[in-house]
Amino acid sequence: MMQAFHWYLPADGSLWKQLTADAPALADAGFTALWLPPASKGSAGIYDVGYGPYDLYDLGEFNQKGSIPTKYGRKDDYLRLIQACHGRGIQVYADIVLNHKAGADATESVCVHRVYPHDRRIEFGDKTEIEAWTRFDFPARSGKYSGFTWNKQHFDGVDWDQRRGEGAIFKFCKPDSAWESVVGGEAGNYDYLMFADLDFTERAVVEELKRWGLWFLAETGIDGFRLDAIKHISFDFFHEWLHAMREGTGREIFTVGEFWCYDRTVLELYLEYSHGAMLLFDAPLHLAFHHASRQPSFDMRQLLTSSLVAENPCQAVTLVDNHDTQPLQSLESPVDFWFKPLAYACILLREAGYPCVFYPDWYGASYRDRGGDGNCYDINIAPVPQLPALLALRANLAYGRQRDYFDHPRTVGWTRAGDPGFANSGLAVLMSSGDAGWKWMELGPGWAGRRLVDRLDPAQPALVVNADGWACFTCPARGLSVWVAG
Ligand code: CA
Repeated sequence: MMQAFHWYLPADGSLWKQLTADAPALADAGFTALWLPPASKGSAGIYDVGYGPYDLYDLGEFNQKGSIPTKYGRKDDYLRLIQACHGRGIQVYADIVLNHKAGADATESVCVHRVYPHDRRIEFGDKTEIEAWTRFDFPARSGKYSGFTWNKQHFDGVDWDQRRGEGAIFKFCKPDSAWESVVGGEAGNYDYLMFADLDFTERAVVEELKRWGLWFLAETGIDGFRLDAIKHISFDFFHEWLHAMREGTGREIFTVGEFWCYDRTVLELYLEYSHGAMLLFDAPLHLAFHHASRQPSFDMRQLLTSSLVAENPCQAVTLVDNHDTQPLQSLESPVDFWFKPLAYACILLREAGYPCVFYPDWYGASYRDRGGDGNCYDINIAPVPQLPALLALRANLAYGRQRDYFDHPRTVGWTRAGDPGFANSGLAVLMSSGDAGWKWMELGPGWAGRRLVDRLDPAQPALVVNADGWACFTCPARGLSVWVAG
């Protein structure tokens, strides 16, 4: 799949149209799914990346928050894009942001406790009344699609008191006033993330989100979901919600959740709780790529050892970078450019995992923003030149038994023996994070005597596989070679 956006796309309402025009080329390149950014109207209107949703029913149709279109276009454009993708055999996954709502229409008086930011289980001070932004009436939509409006009953926390002009984490006083049960121990309890936090222990909230989800599926014909911020939401909720979506439509509905955590054991705990309802992004693998690209002493034998995909090959969506890790974002941990071909080979040419290509690595990206130090930076991300070849290799040749050679601190590789169902399939990958590398690797007895060429560098002299099915492969310094029959 491709993550078909990044944080700094221009706020000109053009993405849906751009991707519609490009769908045939993406299909030809080998993409079979696009993960699109959130389609609902955010509190910042056309400037909202989509993660501060105001009205889930406004897919760029109503004049709310200063514009009809979202950052990515109008609802008609969105529906046309989905149809264009389906016409070319590409599935479309929608980015679903349910944890919080932003940009309320009015405030309400709410009884709250302040809690410590670093341990949200601990209250301090007295109960107090604040003025919280929790009323969502959607006057400009005036009841179309749904008459449901939101109020303080449906939330359990905010971070702003309008009365005092005070920012803090305010937990609402309710009969059962605990935060939701979430997986992982960050910040004591990481239910609260930002804006007005939905209370998933309220049945009215769960039922409304089910109604909305079924409406959204019927309205758009979307094939799957990318679920935002699931580590901040009661783990019971998505089990029930996804079941309702699948029962209600009779469709599989591929789903990947964003549980951004570098500890595989926490991800595995979440997978256990979700009973196979979804896959998760392999954040630990991304972190290993980031470190390998920055630390000259990084031991390449450990590149995959802490990843989710190593232990859960069918439940990991593997990635190199995303909109949160890209430069100038608060979680920034980008993979340096020289290492990207190596990282993409790892996710595209190995048998395990469902790989996700990041938009700037395919299209490039240029943007300017303030960094954490307050200074302004110009960022230019070039497309990864080897990506089209790697996608073609995945589609045509990366089949059959995999033999691993993660046995040297700088130079590692693997072979794929090929599958009779795919002509001339099979390949050998060798990469080095240091000097030019070489390594004996086995392709299998059926390869004896065959000639191999480096698909990424035609100038490398050809190799011949020996009588036992082995060859001594080479790769350039801080580089990647992929050897194929030729
Ligand atoms: Ca929450």
